[in-house]
Amino acid sequence: MKIPILDIKGQYKRIKSEVDSAILNVLENTNFINGPEVKSFEKEMCDYLSSKHVIGCANGTDALQIAMMALELKPGDEVIVPAFTYAATAEVVGLLGLVPVMVDVYPDTFNIKVEDIEKSITERTKAIVPVHLFGQAADMEAIMKIANNHNLFVIEDNAQAIGAKYTFSDGSQKYLGTIGTIGCTSFFPTKNLGCYGDGGAIFTQSDLYAQRVRMVTDHGQKNKYYHDIIGCNSRLDTIQAAVLQIKLKHLDEYSNSRYQAAQIYKELLKEVDELIMPFEVSNSTHVYHQFTMQVKSGHRDSLKDYLASKDIASMTYYPVSLNNQKAFKDISKTFVSLDNSEALANSVLSLPMHTELTREIQIEICNAIKEYFKQ
Ligand SMILES: *Cc1c(COP(=O)(O)O)cnc(C)c1O
Repeated sequence: MKIPILDIKGQYKRIKSEVDSAILNVLENTNFINGPEVKSFEKEMCDYLSSKHVIGCANGTDALQIAMMALELKPGDEVIVPAFTYAATAEVVGLLGLVPVMVDVYPDTFNIKVEDIEKSITERTKAIVPVHLFGQAADMEAIMKIANNHNLFVIEDNAQAIGAKYTFSDGSQKYLGTIGTIGCTSFFPTKNLGCYGDGGAIFTQSDLYAQRVRMVTDHGQKNKYYHDIIGCNSRLDTIQAAVLQIKLKHLDEYSNSRYQAAQIYKELLKEVDELIMPFEVSNSTHVYHQFTMQVKSGHRDSLKDYLASKDIASMTYYPVSLNNQKAFKDISKTFVSLDNSEALANSVLSLPMHTELTREIQIEICNAIKEYFKQ
């Protein structure tokens, strides 16, 4: 039996009757664009996150682009991004003619290094884009402080950590995505809250930015056929909203399954000295979008191949840091060393992580890893 990296089908089977009837209901009503499910999902997401505004859009990449358009960032403006993340974070910066300024990440949390942000601010800097990588928070309290001191926007890329909560030093808590000026997420099927196609959303606590975000997603119009600004066309599908309404009710249970599975991996692999287990920070819950370990002494690729030979899938998120991607070579800037990002690209390996993992599957995966290191 092959062990896959994901099991979307297994998860679907558990909610099949609910999802099928919700989709059929949309088909019956034929309200495919901006149907009532879109509004009610946005409302339910607002309630879940305690967010003032949630605005659906077509995907997570669009969400980031729309945020930057709504904040009126202009060509030449500098936007600080981590060098170790999915390309979409920096891609939209480039697409809008803005300058991605790459900073390093911490070697244990893989999240944006706060000291580097300070060192990378110039008079052209307009925004910081922290990514809550693999399911836990970047150091938001420190990032918000820097942003406030320098009058910068914060756009949270929360594609990987929906449902995770951040605790401030005064004890108050907020869901990730609702702390910055604007938060963005993706409902890509493999994300923690995934729909059955493409989808995304934007969060904000500001009425002004919410209105601008809505305009940008709808061709820059507030009143139909009166276009005040240049926008785009980016909508959350009614069918996807109907699926998300059902899956949102299970999100906490899904986050918990992922967290429990991560604890089992950590326990089963604790005596393997060649591996560094994921680190959990104390000021954030971890919703384990990925279970990403570091493999010491150059064993990463051969361990991955060995697991593949045993029909066990594993993945390298991400094999190249953004500063070394061709697409960003000529358009990005950096004022700091990116050593940690480059080292992680050569050492990280992610194990199967989803809501359908069983202890038995995890034992099989971990036994194979132990056999590799005993050879
Ligand atoms: C998935 C992802 C995105 C993009 O989301 P799409 O819906 O695929 O466009 C952006 N940033 C990060 C960190 C992601 O993981």
